[in-house]
Amino acid sequence: MLQMFYPDLYLDSAYEIHYEELRARGVRGLLFDIDNTLVMHGAPADDKAVELFAKLKELGMETCLISNNKEPRVRPFAEAVGSRFIQDAHKPSVKGYQRAMQLMGTDEKSTVFIGDQLFTDIYGAKRAGLYCILTKPIDPREEIQIVLKRYLEKIVLCSYKKACKRKNS
Ligand SMILES: [Mg+2]
Repeated sequence: MLQMFYPDLYLDSAYEIHYEELRARGVRGLLFDIDNTLVMHGAPADDKAVELFAKLKELGMETCLISNNKEPRVRPFAEAVGSRFIQDAHKPSVKGYQRAMQLMGTDEKSTVFIGDQLFTDIYGAKRAGLYCILTKPIDPREEIQIVLKRYLEKIVLCSYKKACKRKNS
């Protein structure tokens, strides 16, 4: 039952993904959460983020930021990295993911999602039919309402890791 929250891949950071490999596998569009996935919560785009998006463009990949945050947060970030964006996405609603694919001209098979939260980011991406990569949150210090969610995430991740071990043994 917890499987509906399992990511396809769990990594430390969005900056350690092998994007060349994804491209070689036919991925043409990347969907990113912003806060705690690309930068600390509320932080502007830094050099690392700008460089990553420049590299993705060089690889010939489309990108779209998908955030539950409002336009004043999302637009400046998107402009700094040169990406399409969707604000107020209401993740885990699938609508934002579908709209993002429309904007990028990609489909479920050619799009990958990257984000740091299981119950919004990953749950929504899975229901939208996307391959999804969960990353560890950049800043572990979080607001109290997120702390409870993280506790529940731990329970799911523990069961996910056990399932991965069973598959590999
Ligand atoms: Mg996030």
